[in-house]
Amino acid sequence: MQYNHVEIWDKVLAILKEEVHPNTLLTWFRPIRPLKMDEKSLTIQVPNQFSYEWIEQQYGVMMNQALSQVMGNGFKLAYSIRMDSPLPAELTVPPPSYTKPLPVASGPRHPDNLNSRYCFDSYVEGECNKFAKAAALAVAKSPGSTTFNPLVVYGGVGLGKTHLIQAIGNYAKEQNPATRVLYVDSERFTADFINSIQKNKTTEFSGLYRNVDILMIDDIQFFGNKERTQDEFFHTFNALHQKGKQIILSSDRPPKDLLGMEERLKSRFQWGLVVDIQPPDLETRQAILQKKAEESNIELPPEIFHFIATHITSNIRELEGAMIRLLAYASLNGIDITLEVAKKVLRDVCISKTKAISIEYIQKITAEHFSFPDDLLRSKTRKKEIAQARQICMYLCKLLTDSSLKTIGLHFGGRDHSTVIHAINCTEELIGSNVKFRQDVEAIRNRIEISQL
Ligand code: ADP
Ligand code: MG
Repeated sequence: MQYNHVEIWDKVLAILKEEVHPNTLLTWFRPIRPLKMDEKSLTIQVPNQFSYEWIEQQYGVMMNQALSQVMGNGFKLAYSIRMDSPLPAELTVPPPSYTKPLPVASGPRHPDNLNSRYCFDSYVEGECNKFAKAAALAVAKSPGSTTFNPLVVYGGVGLGKTHLIQAIGNYAKEQNPATRVLYVDSERFTADFINSIQKNKTTEFSGLYRNVDILMIDDIQFFGNKERTQDEFFHTFNALHQKGKQIILSSDRPPKDLLGMEERLKSRFQWGLVVDIQPPDLETRQAILQKKAEESNIELPPEIFHFIATHITSNIRELEGAMIRLLAYASLNGIDITLEVAKKVLRDVCISKTKAISIEYIQKITAEHFSFPDDLLRSKTRKKEIAQARQICMYLCKLLTDSSLKTIGLHFGGRDHSTVIHAINCTEELIGSNVKFRQDVEAIRNRIEISQL
């Protein structure tokens, strides 16, 4: 029986559907259109150069195998790249205007808050961030003109989110100096907004945030439970998106898991592309250290890089910190850096945290220990045993995770960071003065840590 090109592509998709994640199917395969076929090949059309490179690289073999299953060996895929045409409606909702070249907003310039050190050249690529970097580069090359709007980059503390999103801004400006870029963290956005209300300057606020070609907001998890800020950000987002301006966001977790965030915002965060950055593997950690050393014109024996990279595993900021500490120690004491020196200096930072422990997990174990449901820890109740368990739990979150006080507070029903500090102080005091209390805390901690081995 003879199939036409559309039917063949449908069959290929049906095979791929079994092999790839539904998100992959939606993001990469749905926008593909079968164009034509001849005796030897099926030509498919992809939306742009970036999609082509990504799809070919990641899924080329898989797609050709699926095609062989349908059409027999020797039948190959051919690609056609569609440039500048509107993208299919299912990819973004609603489709913004895809115009090229980037229309540049007019008006007075303002500082972009970018750190020029954060560029693509200094960003080391590894399996952990390959996709995020590729997407970031695609956005940097044609801000507002890809389907990745917004681009949301998420990942744990110190894994390079700020570096990567700022690299987009620096690149776009280098390519086109007239591009108006604005980078802020979510707290600055909130503060500016509150200020503008107090000083009756909301028009100025909108003028600043809605008159850019690229808006980057870092750490959007801190919008959690801030209703008015979220409302304002919603309108800022819409205004920019409708004009085809690029929005780039970072978060410490996937948008769908953001706490205290309005649904309409969460859904907008998923309009474009959501990419994650994972903790780096050993090779990438070593490569990052090497890069940092090169940038500072420092030569170190390879075993030093290996030693640091083996022992500091969770976070790139700590990795850098460890190296800086080592360099400082050696230069202050006028000695060469040997493995022995490295071991000595890094002893206290080398507590390897191989697996990340989540706040949710600590809450679960704490609540189990005291035999009550874990949502009481996040509730408003001030009943003594619960309040005390909550304090222990906050203390353990600080001790066993890399989360900031703010983030910890957010996980406990949106309490603020001073409550967390208070909890930590009280717990430390009681550990010192009350044996039964200390045993409780140790028992919980042991259970959490054992589960990580
Ligand atoms: P995050 O915003 O995710 O907490 P940052 O972007 O602040 O993390 O990164 C922490 C430090 O690690 C920065 O100094 C950054 O330059 C560096 N860093 C992170 N990822 C990389 C990478 N892939 N290559 C080079 N340096 C990196
Ligand atoms: Mg950051």
